[in-house]
Amino acid sequence: MKFFIATYGCQMNKYDSNVIRDYMGMRDHTESYTIDDADIIFVNGCSVREHAEKRAIGFVNSMKSQIKKNARIYIIGCLATALKEYPKHINGLIGTTHYDRISDIINMNGFVDMRDTEGEGNYTNARIRNNVSLFISIMKGCNNFCSYCIVPYLRGKEISFSPDSIFKQIESSINTKTGEILLLGQNVNSYNYRGKRFPELLIEIANIFKNYRIRFLTSHPKDFNELLIRIIADKENIMNSVHLPFQSGSDKILKMMHRGYLQTDYLKKINMLKQIIKDVAITTDVMTGFPFETEHDFNETMKVILEVRFDDAFMYKFSKRNYSLAGFMNDADENIKLRRLKHLIKIQNSIKIEKMATLKGKTVKVLIERKSKKSENDCIGRDEGDRMIVIKGLFDIGTVIKAEVIEIKGNTPIAIKKEE
Ligand code: SF4
Repeated sequence: MKFFIATYGCQMNKYDSNVIRDYMGMRDHTESYTIDDADIIFVNGCSVREHAEKRAIGFVNSMKSQIKKNARIYIIGCLATALKEYPKHINGLIGTTHYDRISDIINMNGFVDMRDTEGEGNYTNARIRNNVSLFISIMKGCNNFCSYCIVPYLRGKEISFSPDSIFKQIESSINTKTGEILLLGQNVNSYNYRGKRFPELLIEIANIFKNYRIRFLTSHPKDFNELLIRIIADKENIMNSVHLPFQSGSDKILKMMHRGYLQTDYLKKINMLKQIIKDVAITTDVMTGFPFETEHDFNETMKVILEVRFDDAFMYKFSKRNYSLAGFMNDADENIKLRRLKHLIKIQNSIKIEKMATLKGKTVKVLIERKSKKSENDCIGRDEGDRMIVIKGLFDIGTVIKAEVIEIKGNTPIAIKKEE
């Protein structure tokens, strides 16, 4: 049978889609890149934010006229588990812990509802397709229960996968284009496999796969520590970029969110990070309009934005999520949430542009990802800080080129290869 996968969401959703590709491929199903000749359609969606959920459901509702008469549609991933109501023309809902049986599930008669999160959800035996970036999940689930977040209800309790199975999955998935390995977990800092913690695992992966760049997502500020910072600083192939979501700068809101740290704790860790790794690129997630957020609380968030000067940020407004504690709280006024978000975006984007401008004249190491869509004589890659860079000339995908940044166009650095 031919299957089509539409993926809406984060790196974890992309990893899950690659797992499904492999499990379907093992049973001789072939992937279709157009929806109209697919027998099976998977819509893999994220439900962490309302916006992503709406896009995925919009796609499900819009596809009716384009698909084969007997094509079967399954909503999968966190989205499947989160939905209380779903489009009536779908054939099933499959949660994140049933992918290893996916080719049996699609042969089941009637409507399929497999949304529990009890299974282990360990897919380290799958070969992960990749083009330069190899996404590898080292654990599943989350035990943190931040009050705004639906993830622990959708992906279940935290389970760390064995180092051996992780190494095997990386080895079997690496191809000639692979340039970096991105280790994924909802909170990688809480990785714990029979006493082996994340710093130890990270060192082992960096040593075994020393020809590849290593990154990881996501760190939780409460568990992020000096040991990890020193490992990033010491190991050349672990990239100097850290994503550390702070969510809010207000202590009152952080307590209501159950984040487990206060503003000063977060800033102390950021200062330590900047002191130990001079050229570190720091990115974050931050929201506006959490219930009961006042102007003072929002100003505390802006204080962190101005003090840290993040290289980039994922900025969003609070939306109520089913099951989560904050989903039962009084929502803030939509206009206020939006006004604060717009202000936050304006200030953070100007910081991003200022920081980008300082790259001019610097030498960067760019991992080549693809040809530029705008100019067929240029390539697109990422530097050690995970910034997108246009590099003049054509180079092999997956190679690392030393380049000098000659100008910044809009938000994008343009670089030329530096002769050795
Ligand atoms: S750490 Fe908090 S925000 Fe992140 S996945 Fe877990 S519950 Fe959600």
